Amino acid sequence: MIKICKTIDEVRAEVKQYKKDGLSVGLVPTMGYLHEGHKSLIDKAVTENDRVIVSDFVNPTQFGPSEDLEDYPRDLDKDAMLCDDAKADIMFNPEPEEMYAAGSCTFVTVSGLTSELCGKSRPIHFRGVATVVSKLFNIVDPDRAYFGEKDAQQLAVIKRMVKDLNFDIEIVGCPIVREEDGLAKSSRNKYLNKEERMAAPVLRRALELGKEAVAKGEIDADKIKVLIVDTINSEKLSNIDYVEIVDAETIKPVSKIRGPILCALAVSFGTTRLIDNFSYGSREK
Ligand code: AMP
Repeated sequence: MIKICKTIDEVRAEVKQYKKDGLSVGLVPTMGYLHEGHKSLIDKAVTENDRVIVSDFVNPTQFGPSEDLEDYPRDLDKDAMLCDDAKADIMFNPEPEEMYAAGSCTFVTVSGLTSELCGKSRPIHFRGVATVVSKLFNIVDPDRAYFGEKDAQQLAVIKRMVKDLNFDIEIVGCPIVREEDGLAKSSRNKYLNKEERMAAPVLRRALELGKEAVAKGEIDADKIKVLIVDTINSEKLSNIDYVEIVDAETIKPVSKIRGPILCALAVSFGTTRLIDNFSYGSREK
C-alpha cells in the first residue's frame, strides 16, 4: 500500500532506513493529477530502483501571477491509487508551507537555457522549477530522478543544473505519452472544451510534418517553422505562443539544422496553453 508523507521529516526518515538497508531510490517529481504520462515515469523508476518516491506538489513558485495556480487540477485520492497500482512506495504531498518555510528567499537560477521558449512567456517559471527540484533532491537524496521529454526545456534545465551544482543523481528522460489521436497527455487537457479538444491534435500533426521535412534533409529552420506554423494556423481555435527550433543542449535558436535539435511549441486553445515538441539527432544524456 502506498504510504503518503506530508512532511519532509517523514520522507527523510523513510529514506534513511532505505539507505541503511542498502536500497536504491528513484524520485518522480510531479504536480499531481496523474495520468498515463506520469505513470510511464513511475513504471520506469520502479524497474530501475528498489524504492520509488513520487512527489505530488503543485509548486507555487513556478506559476506567474496571472497563471493557473489556484485552478490547477488536483485529485489526491486518484493520484494515490495510480501510485499504488504502479507500485511506488511513497507519495510525498507536502503543503506549500512545508516546502517553503516562512521567510524563504533562496532560489536556484539556471541562466541561458531559460531565456528562450517557455522562459520568454513565463519569466519566473524555470527559477521555480529549478528551486523546487533542488529542494526535492536534497530531501529525497535519490539515486535517479525521472522527467518527461514532453517538458523538454525543463529536462535540459535540470540536466544542466545537476551538472553545474554537482548533484550525484542520474537524470532519466522518458518519452512523451500521447492520446490515441496524438495529443500529448497533460493534466491541463481537461480544461479543453469539446471543440478545443478536437482541434488540439493539430499540434502533433504539425510537428510530424516538421520532423518528416528534417528527416528528408531540410536544414533551413525557418522553412520548417513556417510549415509547422501554417499547419497549426489552419485550426482557427489555435493561438500560437511560439514555434521554435533550438540547439538541444543550449536551448539557443538555430538557423541551420546541423546537430541535435529540439523543435518545441506552445499553443493556446481558448485559455488552455499546451506544449509539445520533437527532438532530432542524438541528444546528450
Ligand atoms: P507535471 O505534473 O505536469 O509537472 O509533470 C511531471 C512530470 O511528468 C514531468 O517530468 C513531465 O515532463 C512528465 N510528463 C507529463 N506529461 C507527460 C507525458 N504526456 N509523457 C511523458 N511525460 C510526461
